Amino acid sequence: MAALTDRLESDDHVIRSVAQGAGAEGERSYWLKAAGLPEQTPHSRYKPNWRKGEREKWTSLEVQGVGVETWEGSLPNHVMRNDKILSEANYIGPLKLRTSTFPVKATLARGRRNLDKSCRACGYVTESQAHVISACPRLKDQRIKRHNQVCGLLARCAKRGGWRYMKEPRLRGQDGKVLKPDLVFVKGDKGVVVDPTIRYEQTRTTLTDGNREKVEKYKQVIDQLKTTLAVSDLTVYGLTLGARGGWASSNDAVFKALGLRATSKVQFITKAILSTLDLMRSHNDYQNLALIGPKHSGAWAGPQGGGPRYVRLRLANLSHESHQKC
Ligand SMILES: [Zn+2]
Repeated sequence: MAALTDRLESDDHVIRSVAQGAGAEGERSYWLKAAGLPEQTPHSRYKPNWRKGEREKWTSLEVQGVGVETWEGSLPNHVMRNDKILSEANYIGPLKLRTSTFPVKATLARGRRNLDKSCRACGYVTESQAHVISACPRLKDQRIKRHNQVCGLLARCAKRGGWRYMKEPRLRGQDGKVLKPDLVFVKGDKGVVVDPTIRYEQTRTTLTDGNREKVEKYKQVIDQLKTTLAVSDLTVYGLTLGARGGWASSNDAVFKALGLRATSKVQFITKAILSTLDLMRSHNDYQNLALIGPKHSGAWAGPQGGGPRYVRLRLANLSHESHQKC
């Protein structure tokens, strides 16, 4: 109906004439009647915002809709759309991340209850996309590395803006515990504390919660830092990046406080996405390692004999790390 109306109400008189000559008015009346709508139904009534509708449907999906709200807005989608930022080779991966369709066991076993879902890298909990990206102990070193890369990127950006900085100063919290914020910047009489992290987007508030928690955690050392650094103004910020490219508007405050260009935000989103893809690839390597042939053959192999057999890779001294630290 929308297409028919577009033609019948076109600014171009030729298109209008052709549509009328082709019986578009009668056809529109027929469809309006079939839909139970009056003849004078406004155009907008049957030309709904299909993007909005599709997004709502996507968001409501139990698995594939997790975290969709965190990449609303122009910035996260700008990164996805711009082929100068994400190459063609790196485009499909982020789409799979956003739709939770990477071929991890939790995805592959959907609707097949009897399949083993334990992680092929660590052998423990369910191998979900969220586990691989934010919790699998086998990938802990890689997550620490990417966290350090994000800190390094922020430090370089701030340094170009004339900020001096120190990494992880040891401070004493109110309960006597040691606190080590990732980065402390100083310029003139002003200090800025930033503790970046990357989190898997689980809910609408995952990223804003991350920033709020960081501020809450480090506000107790503000006076201590002000005295040590001899600054009169010091503010604490979190910088919580979405592992799948999500962005929280509360992150903007960091860039404003440090006087960084808004365009530099793109670098952080891109870094988060690409490093997450690296994590998935590394996990995929573990999958290949776990795919072995006949028992005790010692050979790298695909399906042999009775087909592929997955083995659990046991870890000694497995640590239960936080899901929140990248
Ligand atoms: Zn694992």
